[in-house]
Amino acid sequence: MAESEEDVQGEESTIIEEGGEPFDVIIVGAGAAGVGVAIALGQAGIEKLLLVDRDTVGSSFASWPEETRFITPSFPSNSIGMLDLNSIAIGVSPAFSMRVEHPTGQEYASHLQDLAGYFELPLLEDTNVLDIQKEGDLFVIETEHITLEAKNVVWAAGEYQYPSLDLFDGSEHCRHTSSVAKYGDLEGDDFLIIGGYESGIDAAYHLAKCGKKVSVFDMNGPWEEASSDPSVALSTFSFERMEHPSFGENVKLFAETTIESVRFENGVYEVKTQDGKTFHSNVQPLLASGFDGSHKFVSHLFEQREDGFPSLTERDESTILPGMFLCGPSVRHDGHIFCFIFKYRQRFAIVAQAIASSLDLPTEEFVDAYKSWGMYLDDLSCCGQECLTC
Ligand SMILES: Cc1cc2nc3c(=O)[nH]c(=O)nc-3n(C[C@H](O)[C@H](O)[C@H](O)COP(=O)(O)OP(=O)(O)OC[C@H]3O[C@@H](n4cnc5c(N)ncnc54)[C@H](O)[C@@H]3O)c2cc1C
Repeated sequence: MAESEEDVQGEESTIIEEGGEPFDVIIVGAGAAGVGVAIALGQAGIEKLLLVDRDTVGSSFASWPEETRFITPSFPSNSIGMLDLNSIAIGVSPAFSMRVEHPTGQEYASHLQDLAGYFELPLLEDTNVLDIQKEGDLFVIETEHITLEAKNVVWAAGEYQYPSLDLFDGSEHCRHTSSVAKYGDLEGDDFLIIGGYESGIDAAYHLAKCGKKVSVFDMNGPWEEASSDPSVALSTFSFERMEHPSFGENVKLFAETTIESVRFENGVYEVKTQDGKTFHSNVQPLLASGFDGSHKFVSHLFEQREDGFPSLTERDESTILPGMFLCGPSVRHDGHIFCFIFKYRQRFAIVAQAIASSLDLPTEEFVDAYKSWGMYLDDLSCCGQECLTC
């Protein structure tokens, strides 16, 4: 099965043997979604699983800008039967283990690494998945070092490492916020930020605190949005930050302002809007424009919805290739967007149940446990404004 032998890290090291049995399930991506679904799969009784990552557990979180924090708060509410909002597994509370309400990316990455060790997840790190194809009943997963086979694959490679860069004429002159290591280290005084949702406001807040002048442009205006859906409107954390005196003094917000082009000439960036305004700065504009998402990488394995997201069955399985599943922020059902941890974690058990059932494992007890913690969302009809599930 494998071209070479590899050490699999985890609490108990396993060896992938050449010509060995195919895995029951391979999960690609060891972020919040991959680690969470791997724990659920293990708790559903699946033993022959492997979590593969091109880097390390939690590497996307570890590469957030140093100042960036979770917008969703952690609170040790598990004791009253309400799972910590940033938890990815029953009984786990980042608030309790880290004693931080809004963790940094680096703190959350360490938390995920702790979970991978605690739950003894079989891990294959530093292994970039290059291609996945279905041959007969099995998926063949080509990586840089090894070829793997599995009966099921869960794609959980996230969005962060796949930023949206090609957005308008000259967008290559801008710098995406996901490449910023620390806002406090950015040189210059006059920043133009394209995109005004969470990342754009986060960047503006940190730069304004350093005394920099900032203009934020957004084609909509999330800070004016009346919706209670956190996938559309800004979080309370960001609204509170916008009340900081330095934000009022240094940040100008431009709603309903779509960028047409960016030019760079003689050391000056020129940003033009579709409604005819022009802005200049000698500081490289920041793109806080979101992410294309890794689902584009596996578009040959899923039918596409009109909005480009994968079309999924009610078990988050590909509608064209049984055994191919999607987990994480790219999961969409009708108008429901599962882009936050507390949303998409509710689908881990749906996927785990589907795979366990296909292997003839009983799932009733497992499903009851997940349901009792609000970690099993199979009825989307309740979702709407003011409903935490959407
Ligand atoms: C700045 C910022 C702040 C956020 N704040 C919050 C918040 O407060 N609360 C909240 O709930 N959500 C928040 N989110 C959203 C949340 O971070 C994402 O939903 C989450 O990171 C997604 O987790 P994931 O496991 O899907 O992806 P990731 O964390 O990106 O994990 C994907 C993993 O897949 C690996 N990978 C990618 N491609 C391959 C490949 N080809 N082969 C092998 N491995 C691969 C990567 O190395 C990575 O480790 C925030 C997002 C951002 C960008």
